[in-house]
Amino acid sequence: MEKEQCSKVVKCALFNGIILKRSTSEDVYKNLFCNASKEKWTTCKRYQVSEKAGKCADWILPNSTLTVDEIIKKMKEKGELV
Ligand code: SF4
Repeated sequence: MEKEQCSKVVKCALFNGIILKRSTSEDVYKNLFCNASKEKWTTCKRYQVSEKAGKCADWILPNSTLTVDEIIKKMKEKGELV
C-alpha cells in the first residue's frame, strides 16, 4: 500500500528544512512522523498544535514532551500567537 504523507507537509517548517536544515535528525523525524502512517503523524506535536492553534512555532519538535496546551501557552507568552 502506498504510504501517505502528513497533510501539513506543504507548510511545515520542519518538513521543508527550515528548522533542522536537512540534517540527519530531520530525516529521522520524517521517517518516524511525516512519511509514516496517519497513526504516526497525528501524534506529532507540530501537527497537533497546528490543528488546535492554526500554526506551530519553529521551536516545537514532533516528539516534544510538552502538552499541546503548554505549547500554545508558551507561544502566546512569546508573542508567536495572539
Ligand atoms: S508530521 Fe509533524 S513535522 Fe511532519 S509534516 Fe506533519 S506536522 Fe510537520
